[in-house]
Amino acid sequence: MDCLFCKIAAGEIPSTKVYEDDLVYGFLDIDPQAPTHIILIPKAHIASANELTEENAGVVGHIFAVAAKLAKEQGFADAGYRIVNNCGKDGGQTVGHLHFHVLAGRNLGWPPG
Ligand code: 5GP
Ligand code: ZN
Repeated sequence: MDCLFCKIAAGEIPSTKVYEDDLVYGFLDIDPQAPTHIILIPKAHIASANELTEENAGVVGHIFAVAAKLAKEQGFADAGYRIVNNCGKDGGQTVGHLHFHVLAGRNLGWPPG
């Protein structure tokens, strides 16, 4: 499948890896929007949050647990952080493979733009 994040997870396109297990791949965003900007993706191709079902959504909980582990390991758990999923055109999704942004290292502001 011609999918950028499938290729990154498979190592066919280089990335700065921060986490990997059987289900999830984590890497640094190429255009960071905060001092820490990690992308966490399921290795299985899921096009967007719209494609989640009771059958495939378990990986989302796992991704949040991975984010919590990275937050503790990288030292931003106490200061806080934001986990973001952009879905579809109005949501600002630009890559058609489900992914979660983990943003930390500055006050992120609210509401989002
Ligand atoms: P979206 O806008 O779909 O929520 O997020 C896609 C993210 O992927 C963007 O933050 C963008 O900077 C990042 N991105 C796009 N292409 C690449 C790439 O080739 N490598 C890495 N590391 N990040 C990418
Ligand atoms: Zn994919």
